Amino acid sequence: MIQTRTSLQEETQDLLRELGVPDSSFRGEGLSCRTPITGELLAQITPSTPASVRSSIATAHEAFLEWRTVPAPRRGELVRLLGEELRLHLEPLGRLVTIEAGKILSEGRGEVQEMIDICTFAAGLSRQIGGLTLPSERGNHRMMETWHPLGVVGVISAFNFPVAVWAWNAALALIAGDTVVWKPSEKTTLTALAVQALFERASARLDDVPANLSTLLVGGAEVATLLVDSPLVPVVSATGSTAMGRVVAPRLASRFARAILELGGNNGAIVCASADLNLALRGVVFAAMGTAGQRCTTLRRLFVHESVYDTFVAKLKRVYASAAVGDPRLPETLVGPLIDQPAFDAMQRALERSRQAGAIVTGGDRVIIADAPSGFYVRPALVELDRQTAEAKSETFAPILYVLRYTHWDQAVAMHNDVSQGLSSAVFTSSLREAESFLSVQGSDCGIANVNIGTSGAEIGGAFGGEKDTGGGREAGSDVWKQYMRRATNTINYGNDLPLAQGVRFDID
Ligand code: NAD
Repeated sequence: MIQTRTSLQEETQDLLRELGVPDSSFRGEGLSCRTPITGELLAQITPSTPASVRSSIATAHEAFLEWRTVPAPRRGELVRLLGEELRLHLEPLGRLVTIEAGKILSEGRGEVQEMIDICTFAAGLSRQIGGLTLPSERGNHRMMETWHPLGVVGVISAFNFPVAVWAWNAALALIAGDTVVWKPSEKTTLTALAVQALFERASARLDDVPANLSTLLVGGAEVATLLVDSPLVPVVSATGSTAMGRVVAPRLASRFARAILELGGNNGAIVCASADLNLALRGVVFAAMGTAGQRCTTLRRLFVHESVYDTFVAKLKRVYASAAVGDPRLPETLVGPLIDQPAFDAMQRALERSRQAGAIVTGGDRVIIADAPSGFYVRPALVELDRQTAEAKSETFAPILYVLRYTHWDQAVAMHNDVSQGLSSAVFTSSLREAESFLSVQGSDCGIANVNIGTSGAEIGGAFGGEKDTGGGREAGSDVWKQYMRRATNTINYGNDLPLAQGVRFDID
């Protein structure tokens, strides 16, 4: 018999149970969880209270005092087991991401794969974190660096990467010896509950690790603020809009807490005269319309050399007109829904302002899906401009690609960098000179600069993050683990004398 599901609510609750979330967690009241696929209510959750937030933070601090003494490779074993749980539950968790965030299935799965990858990375790293040994200017002395964990790491995350951002932070924080308190987006709390259940399952497999190494807070900005202001939280990693960062950063600075800020992007790409246009087309289309334009690394501004402009933009228009927009659970869909009505309204306002500024707008209209009339689906929009407008310089979190023509390389780079954000960037070229120039100090001013690859879809092995209004934070690979630890410089005297540095003399006999 073919089983038909009566509703997304039922499917979601089944998935939550399969992932180990108790019914009591999603049968509360106060926070309504909806799916952008149909707008349907999925579950109700009870938000954290100020008292419960304070208690979670205090408990995480207690857990830290014990966890910091556990050898780092043993801490890595916990993260390895977390990766195993994620591998075992990739399908249901990926599907839950699709239902709650509206990502197409392969992107929902991809997000979980990213979590698995950072666990693998961090487990290996747990045997490698270490400091330098440095030459001392004094005889019979040795200098070295020791790295220690910091304490409780607060993680605030955005709706568009509902689970991966926690993993980028938590995997590194945990092997470093820190504990984690996570405040996910109020729009994607169900996936967070599922991740929490999987984490607890991994923890239960080791009998020598303390409880409460990573805990979850439920609610909106008011809950996050308690985390931001707590003196027991020495580092906060906050992912979200630049507007959020402008509130959070000064609060953290006022108590000298460490801030890892991953804020808005307004990413650009240059398509040069020598570019392989078919390769560039694929790179541009995935980066611009993937995740319905709701990635921090989404391509939003495109600069095309005048000699290939007409050919390239004609190809783009064909793809934009035919890209499958619809239910993200269907295998043929490339563009799922926007997260909610405010996102749709913001897109329409941005397009209207562009029209008023004289732009040629193609697409951008609402697509009504028969079974999901309350979902906010849109045809991705191309906006052709003759100059970079204020609209193009601000981030609208929707699939809008501003397209501009350029004549000279320097002009393209200048336009590319002429925005307040600095996350991701790309150049499509076959010229070594242009490629290297883009990556040089005179080229892209972003945290991520790619050649013949779009702006989105970074690998976890590299440091991820951006400059300027993007906040300057870095997450994931490379030497990012250092942000979750404090460095102590040690000087050891193994001689019988006490020579002072810089030749200072201070004789007391
Ligand atoms: P948002 O700023 O509305 O919310 C993000 C998180 O911050 C949520 O958990 C929210 O509850 C919390 N928050 C909001 N205001 C706050 C405040 N005043 N104090 C404390 N916490 C607060 O962002 P969103 O709509 O969920 O996500 C989209 C934005 O996130 C886009 O701007 C996107 O570019 C950005 N983003 C950036 C990255 C990155 O790595 N740079 C990654 C993902 C998303």
